[in-house]
Amino acid sequence: MFMTPRPTERRLLLLLTALTSAHAAFAKPPPNIVFIFSDDHAYQAISAYGDPRQLIETPNIDRLAREGMRFDRCLVTNSICGPCRATVLTGTYNHVNGFVNNSNRRFDGSQITFPKLLQAAGYQTAMIGKWHLETDPTGFDFWQILPGQGVYYNPPMIRLGQRIKTEGYVTDIITDTSLDWLQHRDRSKPFLLMCQHKAPHREWEPALRYLNHDGDRRYDEPATLFDDYAGRGAAEHNQDMTIRDTMNAKDCKLTPPPQLTPAQLAEWNAYYEPRNAKFREANLQGADLVRWKYQRYLHDYLGCIRGVDDSVGRVLKYLDDEGLADNTIVIYSSDQGFYLGEHGWFDKRWIFEESVRAPLLVRWPGNVAPGSTSRALVSNLDFAETFLDIAGVPIPVRMQGRSLAPILRGATPADWRTSFYYQYFEYPTPHRVQPHYGVITDRYKLIHFTGGAPDDYWELFDLQSDPHELRSVSDEPAYRTRRATLEKELTRLRTELNVPNEIPPDWYGGPRPGAKN
Ligand code: CA
Repeated sequence: MFMTPRPTERRLLLLLTALTSAHAAFAKPPPNIVFIFSDDHAYQAISAYGDPRQLIETPNIDRLAREGMRFDRCLVTNSICGPCRATVLTGTYNHVNGFVNNSNRRFDGSQITFPKLLQAAGYQTAMIGKWHLETDPTGFDFWQILPGQGVYYNPPMIRLGQRIKTEGYVTDIITDTSLDWLQHRDRSKPFLLMCQHKAPHREWEPALRYLNHDGDRRYDEPATLFDDYAGRGAAEHNQDMTIRDTMNAKDCKLTPPPQLTPAQLAEWNAYYEPRNAKFREANLQGADLVRWKYQRYLHDYLGCIRGVDDSVGRVLKYLDDEGLADNTIVIYSSDQGFYLGEHGWFDKRWIFEESVRAPLLVRWPGNVAPGSTSRALVSNLDFAETFLDIAGVPIPVRMQGRSLAPILRGATPADWRTSFYYQYFEYPTPHRVQPHYGVITDRYKLIHFTGGAPDDYWELFDLQSDPHELRSVSDEPAYRTRRATLEKELTRLRTELNVPNEIPPDWYGGPRPGAKN
């Protein structure tokens, strides 16, 4: 029942109304969020990360480091595409969100994700580019995705459920679509834009304008290009992801991709054919062949990165031109790390550094000190919580990470995590990397390769004395106490995160390692 307010109450109501409108007039609107996410972008291929090989200049991505924060230990929960994306959306490990491998999983889009929560809080949301979760995106006002892995040239896409044709280079098309969406968005609302590139995923096909981008430069080789895996166990010896044996003719551009138009094919052939003819004539073998493949791989991979850097530049310019930069947080990251020849490898999957570490650069004017860095153990597990936190939306208890906002503001909480849990499942295809889980600290990694005898074993690496992870010290007496401490920590993490002790066989996506056939 409504009652007429008494005069004093009326005065109070008027005062409250006035205060509320004043607050609305002066309060800063919630920040916009631009999340630029590439696929398999190694931190070694971002100049701000200072790889000793100095493989590439990435001026636009570096601008985020110069104007924001560079994270030096952003670790992923499970280093492959789909599982990482499920973790980003849900803020949970894959044993919780269900997307444990790329082989036989479909993302359950009915679960809680940060885009859904931001949308409910009044954000306008868009997802453009590589999705790779099989089911249609949920929680977005607009979405346009590549089907599955997508292709580099003239890629078919799916826009709000309708298949469409495109012409051009995938990174440019994803950028054009993103800028077009920004231009036509509802300007009365804050926005979340997820701009997710296919590049530089295998088979590393650059924009045609970047063929010959490095003028036949010879790239320095990593010290471990010819690693013999001594000092480590069966998993490292049995994998199928070497430049030497696994990288194929298509990867090496000895045959062109089928999607090119005749004009594009002519441009492609003009660059690759004379070089391929020379290669065929040379009939390289052994180490010489590995070296040639490494050079071709780096040329193509880095050519893709140039396209991604252009994209970041265009998005930043749009934010500048539209006066949006000050109230927009821009995040650049990749779904995980990647090998650029270290240990003789390409691909990812391992708990080892090049694979488990993703680049992470964040610009948030007025909050993040320009040119700052952090070595805190952060993760793609924390992204959802961070976005919700900065938008003032409560973080659901189901989420297992933690908001990075305090770290971004320059005050890492005293109780920030000092250990991180990792778990990889997919086996045996496509790269025969044995399932494993482990704990990572600032200095150590304790790893359990699973699957039953004879392949069930442990490794321990001391990153201080062995930064390239070449020698397991798990059975060395000098590390006995350390190992016991780490085993205890691993058990604690598995309990805290509700990791099942028995892995259901279908989580591997193929026959269980150690199982017959
Ligand atoms: Ca990936």
